[in-house]
Amino acid sequence: MSTNDNVRVRFAPSPTGKLHIGGARTAIFNWAFARAMGGTFILRIEDTDPERSTEENTQIILRTMRWLGLDWDEGPGIGGAFGPYTQMERMDTYQAALEELKASGNAYPCFCTKEELDAKREAAAASGAAYSGYDRTCRHLSHEEAQARIDAGEPHVWRLAVPENHGPIAFDDAVYGHTEFPADVMDDMILVRTDGSPTYNFAVVCDDTNMQVTHVIRGDDHLSNTPRQILVYEALGKPVPTFAHLSMILGGDGKKLSKRHGATSVEEYAERGYLPEVIVNFLALLGWSLDGESTIIPREVLCREFSLNRITKKDAIFDEQKLNWMNAQYIKAMDPASWVQASAPWLTRAYAAGHAGLVSQIVPAATPENDESAPVEYPADALAEGSADIAARPAFYQALYPLIAEREQRLTECEDKLEYMFWGPEVLLDEKSVQKVLLKEDKKPREVLEATRAILADESIPWQCDPLQDRVRKLTEELDLKAKFVFQPIRVAICGNMVSPPLFESVELLPREDVLSRIDKTLELVYGA
Ligand code: GLU
Repeated sequence: MSTNDNVRVRFAPSPTGKLHIGGARTAIFNWAFARAMGGTFILRIEDTDPERSTEENTQIILRTMRWLGLDWDEGPGIGGAFGPYTQMERMDTYQAALEELKASGNAYPCFCTKEELDAKREAAAASGAAYSGYDRTCRHLSHEEAQARIDAGEPHVWRLAVPENHGPIAFDDAVYGHTEFPADVMDDMILVRTDGSPTYNFAVVCDDTNMQVTHVIRGDDHLSNTPRQILVYEALGKPVPTFAHLSMILGGDGKKLSKRHGATSVEEYAERGYLPEVIVNFLALLGWSLDGESTIIPREVLCREFSLNRITKKDAIFDEQKLNWMNAQYIKAMDPASWVQASAPWLTRAYAAGHAGLVSQIVPAATPENDESAPVEYPADALAEGSADIAARPAFYQALYPLIAEREQRLTECEDKLEYMFWGPEVLLDEKSVQKVLLKEDKKPREVLEATRAILADESIPWQCDPLQDRVRKLTEELDLKAKFVFQPIRVAICGNMVSPPLFESVELLPREDVLSRIDKTLELVYGA
């Protein structure tokens, strides 16, 4: 692909909430385009709505961008030649742009009160005329009169004087193609409010102009703003950038993605155990494709191959099953050390579960009544100890990876699935597994456990998966049982249930005395021995 290092794009979130899926997709497209073109990716915080913008949201957005690995070349924290990169700090630039528009006669003061405007709007609606915007009363005031009223301190806004006989406002959208809007229905929109603050459409154009943005890639919810913004570029005498509007993201039911579909902020996806590189890969494919087929697209490929001409205008469907599948693929391909690092929050919890005064017992099966979906709160010191343990025993934690790598869809799963690795000498027996396996008397589960205990206590057998497993397998002949009826009781006695990760691979990683203790406690709890 030909590169163009003059390309300057921006992601311009309003910190009125967390970074949501749609915003992240826009960020990824801008970032990948900048990287593919060898251009510049700008991050700009659009915080001119004082009621809804918060510093906390700004920090969450920055943190999430970093988590996703969407590094910006100019913006908060790193600055750049066109800063500041927060709109509230750029008020002087909007004022300067307004002065230019005043001088060129493209902006005029409007003194109409809210009541007057409401009445005009109603009248316009009732008349059925095509133009339903401001009736331009103040546009016809003489310069002297307007100045006198300003000097007298009369509250006023500044409006754009939309040129008469403009002809259609046309642009070639990189996604939607040639697009036109009639100019004669365009309102003389407000540029600067009574309190001196710029409106969104004015501030964005000032910023994009001053930051020399060449391509505006954003959600198509902004499509209707584009003709208004083009009028502002024209009034300022500045070149209009290339626009690329991205189609909507729909949930599986074909409706616009929203809270109804579950998580919408990227942070929630992080908390639910998705890898940042998966989120980037997955969202990159919501409206863009590499070749129409590839689903696993590594970051470097995206950064090399991304192009605007492979963006589709078809609405994109957010398919959570595909996301889960993709996360599983990435987990399978991880190296153990990276898996441990990414899984640390949940491994820490698994550790805490086993170290917070655990006592062996039979645990009743979850019912709708006792199934508490809210995560258990562990004492802070147990969690801190867990983090320290991960740092102290990297080899042990990395050895957990193969136990689960083939089966894990989300990193959160290791918390429950590997908890038994942290029980020490204790065991939590799942009641259902006890019923189905350990109380199946005709299959001699108690004999199996007693014989296994003797084998595992025999120090002449190396404490390794294969020799232990091979010796235990002989019990099938000795006790005349199918393999299943040998291995299931052992699994329940050591791992607590019938569906744990591979058994003897786990045993090898546990201390012998803990494994023997678990079998003893199981015998005692189940058979009272
Ligand atoms: N701040 C706007 C938003 O968060 C984006 C504006 C733009 O990309 O032009 O929707």
